[in-house]
Amino acid sequence: SYPPIDEEILALLRNREEFVVIGHVSPDGDCLSSQMTMNSLLLKMGKTVHIANAGPFDRSEIAYLRSDFLNHIDQDLKQRDPVIVVVDCSSPERIGHLAEEIEGLTTVVFDHHSSGEQFGTYRYIVPRSVSTTLIIMQLYKALDIEISQEIAEHLFFGFATDSGFFRFINAYRGETLRLAAELVDLGVSPNLMNDRMSGGKSLGYIKYLGKLIDRSESLFDGKVMISTSYLEDNKQYITTDKPSDSLYTMLLSVQGVEVVLFFKELEAEKTEIGFRSSHQSSIDVGALAESFGGGGHKKAAGVTLNKSIKEAKKLLLQAIETMLKA
Ligand code: 5GP
Ligand code: MN
Ligand code: MN
Repeated sequence: SYPPIDEEILALLRNREEFVVIGHVSPDGDCLSSQMTMNSLLLKMGKTVHIANAGPFDRSEIAYLRSDFLNHIDQDLKQRDPVIVVVDCSSPERIGHLAEEIEGLTTVVFDHHSSGEQFGTYRYIVPRSVSTTLIIMQLYKALDIEISQEIAEHLFFGFATDSGFFRFINAYRGETLRLAAELVDLGVSPNLMNDRMSGGKSLGYIKYLGKLIDRSESLFDGKVMISTSYLEDNKQYITTDKPSDSLYTMLLSVQGVEVVLFFKELEAEKTEIGFRSSHQSSIDVGALAESFGGGGHKKAAGVTLNKSIKEAKKLLLQAIETMLKA
């Protein structure tokens, strides 16, 4: 089960008065839900709380979570010496330009990534937790703070996004389901959560997904599937949403596929790569992404390279080939 939270961390939250809750760049559902629920927790403790994120916010399915996010920690705020609470981030780079703005401040990190760099003054890292929100749920329990229906929904939403709606639960299995059940008992509707997570997309985005599936290629004896998004696509399709889970699900469902790589051209010399590996595969895509400066989990990871699509493909496919041979 989840390890106990250090008394030092609980004391820090109890004793200090002002906090800034920060998440990673291009926040996903788990990150934003973690920020929201950490914010609520601290508010319930009577604290002054700010939420900050370097952005960009571009996924329609999480638009409903948006509230008043600061884009910067200004000097005024910094001088008041707030405690920085970082959620769902495996390394300081993941918080973008905010990293330098919080230098020198007391920082506590709540995260579940297995790869990355240890940072922060205090850390509660549980790589076996499927989401950061379930880690924050432990904090509610440890501090004996009531979980309202709204908070339960946010906690569940983070769990739902990172677990692919119950599909990727590799550790704390029974416990994870019991935590989810507890949230449902607090009034969460799994149906509504699924709508929030997967519904509300534009037709233009679905057509774009179709194009990405159409473009997919099978490599290395069918063990690897890749697909590519080009800058050109912006003219014809709605491409602003991140590649949805459904693209990876489709490509991973092809017989024999172990790894899916999705290349997205952001600029002529800037490519974002998303990775997924199948449940049966021994390939650790988190380690692979980390070796290129990114990170993530064993089965889901990402990195952005300052390279053209062509160069990025060459590099990554060479690395994958080496891993498949090993
Ligand atoms: P997604 O493909 O859903 O954006 O990301 C999958 C996983 O990879 C997430 O857990 C996320 O934290 C991680 N990830 C995605 N992009 C990056 C990146 O550029 N750097 C790091 N360190 N992790 C990333
Ligand atoms: Mn995340
Ligand atoms: Mn997460």
